[in-house]
Amino acid sequence: MSSAAAPVLLKLSGEALKGSEGIFDPQVLGRVAHELLEGVRAGRRVALVVGGGNIVRGRDIAAVVATRTRGDYMGMLSTLINALALREAIEAAGGACEVVAPYAVPNVAAAYDRGQVLRWLDAGVIVIFGGGTGHPFFTTDTTAALRAAEIDATELLKGSNVDGIYTADPGRDPNARRIAHMSFDEAVAGAYGVMDQAAFGLCRDRGVRIRVFDMTRQGAIRAALGDDPPGTTVG
Ligand code: UDP
Repeated sequence: MSSAAAPVLLKLSGEALKGSEGIFDPQVLGRVAHELLEGVRAGRRVALVVGGGNIVRGRDIAAVVATRTRGDYMGMLSTLINALALREAIEAAGGACEVVAPYAVPNVAAAYDRGQVLRWLDAGVIVIFGGGTGHPFFTTDTTAALRAAEIDATELLKGSNVDGIYTADPGRDPNARRIAHMSFDEAVAGAYGVMDQAAFGLCRDRGVRIRVFDMTRQGAIRAALGDDPPGTTVG
């Protein structure tokens, strides 16, 4: 394994793990786990940030929980549930995995410790960052940018359900074409809705390239971790 290569950080939305019935699709969990492990076996050091949109997003449950901060804590707890599901799938596929959160949650997640995270990554352990930033009003995209910068990742892979950034909505506009590469300023100015501005800003300031790719396709994560990755690069 080349521990010299910079780690890569993959952001998966909670939505990506969702089945047609229920919050998880076991096949998706299995596919994600196997493809991540192929990346690790090929020498990549792989960290993950997972969202919680398949369970709770703070902003979506205002009718139930009027206190936004409480709704956001529920959202952050959702990301930990997803982290445990992914850990289970990775271990079932024969890999090693640790879940890390801003604060220790006994039996669920270790408290973030940069040195420990880097040692795990060096040893081929997949590290999943659950629990978001630990603060309400942020997103897991911002968490992904923050953790990518903290672990000196040069690339943030943003798994999406479209294969990159388009000039227009490809579902509505037949003339929409995929953009292979754009600058941070173009991405922010174009308001493509791929990531929030805080996430873009942090990546721009820390020199973390963003690659948006379609993670719903078989083999997409393996390809994204490989030498000729698909999608749109921002950076
Ligand atoms: N969240 C938060 N702070 C964070 C990260 C997430 O409060 O640092 C909450 C917020 O309510 C968010 C939910 O957790 O809606 C799930 O995260 P996100 O919406 O980013 O998940 P995704 O859409 O990627 O599945």
